[in-house]
Amino acid sequence: MFVLTDLTFESFGLASPILGALTAAGFIKPTPIQAKAIPHALAGRDVLGIAQTGTGKTAAFALPMINAMTDRLHSKRFSTRALVLAPTRELAVQIEQEIKKFAAGLGLRTVLIVGGVSRFGQVQRMMRGADIVVGCPGRVVDLMNTRELVIDQCQFFVLDEADRMLDLGFMPDIRKVVNALPARRQSALFSATMPAEIAKLANGLLREPVRVEIEAVASTPSRIEQSVYFAEGPEKRNLLIKLLHQPEFSKTVVFTRTKRGADRVALMLNSSKISAAALHGNLSQNQRQRALDAFKAGEVRALVATDIAARGIDVNAVSHVINFELPNEPESYVHRIGRTARNGADGVAVAFCDATELPYLTQIEKLTGIKMKVAGGERPRQAMPVKKPARHPDMQVRKIKPKRPPYQEKRKVA
Ligand code: AMP
Repeated sequence: MFVLTDLTFESFGLASPILGALTAAGFIKPTPIQAKAIPHALAGRDVLGIAQTGTGKTAAFALPMINAMTDRLHSKRFSTRALVLAPTRELAVQIEQEIKKFAAGLGLRTVLIVGGVSRFGQVQRMMRGADIVVGCPGRVVDLMNTRELVIDQCQFFVLDEADRMLDLGFMPDIRKVVNALPARRQSALFSATMPAEIAKLANGLLREPVRVEIEAVASTPSRIEQSVYFAEGPEKRNLLIKLLHQPEFSKTVVFTRTKRGADRVALMLNSSKISAAALHGNLSQNQRQRALDAFKAGEVRALVATDIAARGIDVNAVSHVINFELPNEPESYVHRIGRTARNGADGVAVAFCDATELPYLTQIEKLTGIKMKVAGGERPRQAMPVKKPARHPDMQVRKIKPKRPPYQEKRKVA
């Protein structure tokens, strides 16, 4: 999905073990965001990056940070020299893996601090002091509260996918983290979009940052072939089975709007002899990682996911993305189909649309500027009203029971 520049990593003056690790990882030339951000970050500047996953932004912030840590000066017990915050556990895992790859042979201590798994192992690792902590806001604040993570000596701070952090309600946690950081530090903030609240956050967090902007969220990679099938409820299920039985749908991400929907579709596929795994926020961290690993390894052909769970996930060679249900935010469609056609490969995105989803399709076509090819069915003449307002799939909605009126004793009738 990204383009490479004609520059080299050597030209940035990175330490030679890092250059060696980059070559070993197959990184020959930098991507545009790396070319724009790395020289400034190496010079000590703060960075405001407007880019999405798939542009190479992880290396853009990680390489300068690692380069500053080749001195092998480790930090004190429970302290860290760098902190990277990501909105989802999967993204945090991916960032830590990428950092480990670049820092191979440098002996740096990285610690992953995410929820959904026991904190014991994380605290044990923090006991020895960390060089780089990668985590999600909830568990990071949790460990900060018990002083098992101390960030007052942290020299590097990265906030990744800031707009998703906002969507997920992480702003109060982020403010706590930022308030505990030392004033003398280098920071970077990455976001795919720049709503007013993120711009305000960036203002308070970054000191005279360089702004690097890569790809507008509305632009869909041209190598993705996009089409739509018009189908109602049960037809959608039959169509999905039919498509996934075709051998070219070898590694497909299927998107649903809700967590229950993802479970239902995965179950239905498995009972139709199509190996599938669900990926959503109600699963434990281990279950999520297992589903993702099985998909990456090709043990399951379909990963049925909700938006948030799949966001930022980097799986090579995804052959198809199927929008079993269209998202109600058109930007999510662009993120979803960005799971395919990565690393220079071609991809196919198929959308299923029923009469209630027609307005979503119109919004998507308006945003991308592409009229989707109709692969099957007939465009409904009129949109049907949605029965229930769609709510954000990964948001826990707690039902509040109405308070009972105070108990009143029935007056005894004499
Ligand atoms: P990111 O946007 O950081 O999630 O990167 C997306 C994918 O591109 C990851 O699999 C990276 O390992 C890969 N990648 C990033 N930069 C480069 C590069 N300069 N050369 C080759 N692969 C890269």
